[in-house]
Amino acid sequence: MNRAELRFYAELNDFLPPEKRYTRFGCEFWVGGSVKDLIEAEGVPHTEVDLILVNGESVDFSFQVRDGDRISVYPVFESLDITPALKVRPRPLRETRFVLDVHLGRLAGYLRMLGFDALYRPDYRDAELVCLSSSEGRILLTRDLGLLKYGAVHYGYAVRQTNPRRQAREVVARFDLARAAAPFTRCLRCNDRLEAVSKEAVLERLPGTTRDRYEEFRRCPACGRVFWAGGHYRRMQRLVEELLGA
Ligand SMILES: [Zn+2]
Repeated sequence: MNRAELRFYAELNDFLPPEKRYTRFGCEFWVGGSVKDLIEAEGVPHTEVDLILVNGESVDFSFQVRDGDRISVYPVFESLDITPALKVRPRPLRETRFVLDVHLGRLAGYLRMLGFDALYRPDYRDAELVCLSSSEGRILLTRDLGLLKYGAVHYGYAVRQTNPRRQAREVVARFDLARAAAPFTRCLRCNDRLEAVSKEAVLERLPGTTRDRYEEFRRCPACGRVFWAGGHYRRMQRLVEELLGA
């Protein structure tokens, strides 16, 4: 058996038992293991990790741990000056897009309400979620830590909260989404971006009072539903403000 020392920083400690949090601790391992395996054996999904230093040098996930190594593990977005060090992530995501596991349907709805591309289907299997995440560069949101241990998942996040509204606030804060939000631009059912449509084009599908009162309409290209800023709009605006932490 070989022995290395590990220390996890900031919110990575959420995954550790109390005695291992915010402290350096020893761990034993067999030769030939990667640093990814070692980190995940402690219960921390590799998708939560953005920087690994071994004896002060940046390494990637495939690094083979040696006897006596001192390993420091930092989360995504840890505000620490790591400028000279390389990050393990190949490149940053350009547009923040998500795919959610089968238990996070209401969170998917809230993210769509805020205008974010949030793929979700109640019948997605684990392999499909992993594939969609890696092939489309989507952040996999899940409460299943096992799902985040697949090597193919480069971008993933373990949602901590259980209440859907709190989950939405957590994801907004974690990925700094507030400024990028575009509320009411996406179909809550299909995830497609809504298109502006003329009143004439949808006139015969509108209830009489709506015909008289509203001038601006949007339509989902997938399901054809038509949207306007109707009576429940103010309530939804308040919900959006809550979700964005305003
Ligand atoms: Zn739709």
